[in-house]
Amino acid sequence: NRINIAIDGPAGAGKSTVARMVASRLQYIYVDTGAMYRAVTWYMQSHGISAENEQKVLQTVQNMVIELKPHESGQMVLLNGEDVTPFIRSQKVNSEVSRYAQIEDLRHHLVHLQRMMALSKGVVMDGRDIGTTVLPAAEVKIFMTASVKERALRRFKELDKAEGITLEQLETDIARRDRLDEEREVSPLRRAEDAVFLDTTDMNIDEVVEYITSFCRT
Ligand code: C5P
Repeated sequence: NRINIAIDGPAGAGKSTVARMVASRLQYIYVDTGAMYRAVTWYMQSHGISAENEQKVLQTVQNMVIELKPHESGQMVLLNGEDVTPFIRSQKVNSEVSRYAQIEDLRHHLVHLQRMMALSKGVVMDGRDIGTTVLPAAEVKIFMTASVKERALRRFKELDKAEGITLEQLETDIARRDRLDEEREVSPLRRAEDAVFLDTTDMNIDEVVEYITSFCRT
């Protein structure tokens, strides 16, 4: 009996690393919903479609084929068959993704795709609104966070040095994204009432993975 696992929390809390490891342990499918918002953002930026032009964004996304494919280093995102994974973690995407993510119709579209992916169960999905909106019936819900400083540090370590971003810039960026994600009107970042709260500031990855899988033994 497979279950669905929802992992939510702010940027840099370690959700994706942990979700991927939990999925691999349980032989479940990992779905990184942030990668979907990022891929859409990258595409709009590359085609000069601003977040203000909501109608154009929606029309464009409706005509787009979005696929997630498992990959050894996490997950690949394909837009109309093209692998866009290498482009979606840039600072340019970071700086605007929360703006596009505020577009209600865009969210509806992506939430629908995400629900389809979880229909047959056995999914570990991470994001901001999984436990509250996408999969409110998920059998296990985790809300993961860590201090802003620790989250910035974790992102710093995984960043491409060539981008030349300082730790301070990252901290500012993460705090700004937290605010936008928490304050938006549609599906803001919130802990679902029935989610387990997990502060990972002083935990290592293995401890977190162990803790989460302990809820999944049936
Ligand atoms: O998880 P990640 O940091 O890659 O997500 C990038 C951005 O995508 C978030 O800051 C948020 O604005 C948006 N997002 C969202 N809902 C999700 C996943 C991501 O709004 N379920």
